[in-house]
Amino acid sequence: MNQQVASEDNPYAAMQARLDLASARLGLEPNLIAILRTCEREITISMPVVMDDGSVQVFEGFRVQHSTARGPAKGGIRFAMNVNRDEVRALAAWMTWKCAVVNVPFGGGKGGVVCDPFKMSKGELERVTRRYVTGILDMLGPDRDVPAPDMGTDGQVMAWFMDTYSMHRRSYLPASVTGKPIDLGGSLGRVEATGRGVMLCAREALKHLGMNPNECTAAIQGAGNVGLISALQLARIGVKVVAISDVHGGLYNKDGLDLAGLRKHLKVQRKLDGFQDGDRISNNELLELPVDILVPAATENVITSRNAERIQARIIVEGANGPVTANADKILDDKGTFVVPDILANAGGVTVSYFEWVQDRMSFFWTQKEVEERMEHIMVDSFAATVDMAQRFKESNRIAAYMLGVDRVAETTRMRGIYA
Ligand code: NAD
Repeated sequence: MNQQVASEDNPYAAMQARLDLASARLGLEPNLIAILRTCEREITISMPVVMDDGSVQVFEGFRVQHSTARGPAKGGIRFAMNVNRDEVRALAAWMTWKCAVVNVPFGGGKGGVVCDPFKMSKGELERVTRRYVTGILDMLGPDRDVPAPDMGTDGQVMAWFMDTYSMHRRSYLPASVTGKPIDLGGSLGRVEATGRGVMLCAREALKHLGMNPNECTAAIQGAGNVGLISALQLARIGVKVVAISDVHGGLYNKDGLDLAGLRKHLKVQRKLDGFQDGDRISNNELLELPVDILVPAATENVITSRNAERIQARIIVEGANGPVTANADKILDDKGTFVVPDILANAGGVTVSYFEWVQDRMSFFWTQKEVEERMEHIMVDSFAATVDMAQRFKESNRIAAYMLGVDRVAETTRMRGIYA
């Protein structure tokens, strides 16, 4: 069963299309579907910020809570020029399903500010962050809504976030946000968590398909937190990473890229440009390379009905949220591509965010080994549960993961009842 989404590039429509398929397979009540299709709470704010040259720039910011049925809304803050409300809504809903797939007690939320963090000074970035937190303050809190980093934001932004929230509440509240620096109540293993989860899913997929990592190649789209760490982690299990890209284009080396050198280069330059290794390729060429594993780890809608037919990878592990459109799902299914969907593949990040929140609330911190072992357990179990659901219902891994997540959210919604 599949259905075409008219506006293929609208991620919110894509989320709803997959939700509809999963709900139909689960036989969910129409009233429940109507609740799950929409977002609980949304805010759009206008944020005047004084720039370094004394001018005032007015930024637009969003925060969306899709569901708090299973716990506080959880989800990152994106700083990017193309952030828009439907994108944030979709990302918030994906967080709901993702938290339910890995069974951590959170709902789903997401936020964004329309800005280019790479063109702002540190001071400007700090003022944008603090103004944003102040604008959405009433939605936030360790028991309400707990943000985290996403595209264009990092540990420093989360530190300003936590500080602003704590100043307003007149209390030290590290559990108000995750992805913080370690000295501010961050968790060991959080920076690597999403990329490590991608590797664990790739490893389990290879095992499932009887493939040997040491004989496999991978291409990674995106060289940020998720992309770079996924590349390094895949190399650790023996996979040869032959291509990586950022927003400006990619690099391809059939003998395997020098990832240690690349990591050093990116730390200083923050872009691939200037790194001498292999040949330059475009992002589109990277996606269509003859590799065993493709990890789209940049942004939404990169594999669509326009290029899905040309994807050669046997396995796609979705490091990014929403990299494959709903229309492309069917084409990949028909080709037999083994897709590990975003709501499972990149859930390592929110899993360790959950650990960070737990540690902050206890003021008792775990070792890296404890974090990694607990996370691996959850990722391996969630992968197995998804594949098992797919086999039992003869569905794609994506719809199976939705079924797993949606069923858990539906059950808590039913138990809580409709308050009127
Ligand atoms: P990031 O800002 O650290 O890195 C993004 C990378 O993608 C950069 O290399 C950038 O140049 C590249 N990029 C951006 N737009 C692109 C485009 N149109 N084409 C090709 N490359 C492009 O962001 P991140 O935190 O690594 O997040 C990447 C994706 O992973 C997003 O979809 C995000 O929602 C998702 N994600 C992130 C986390 C996390 O813990 N950071 C967790 C789960 C999911």
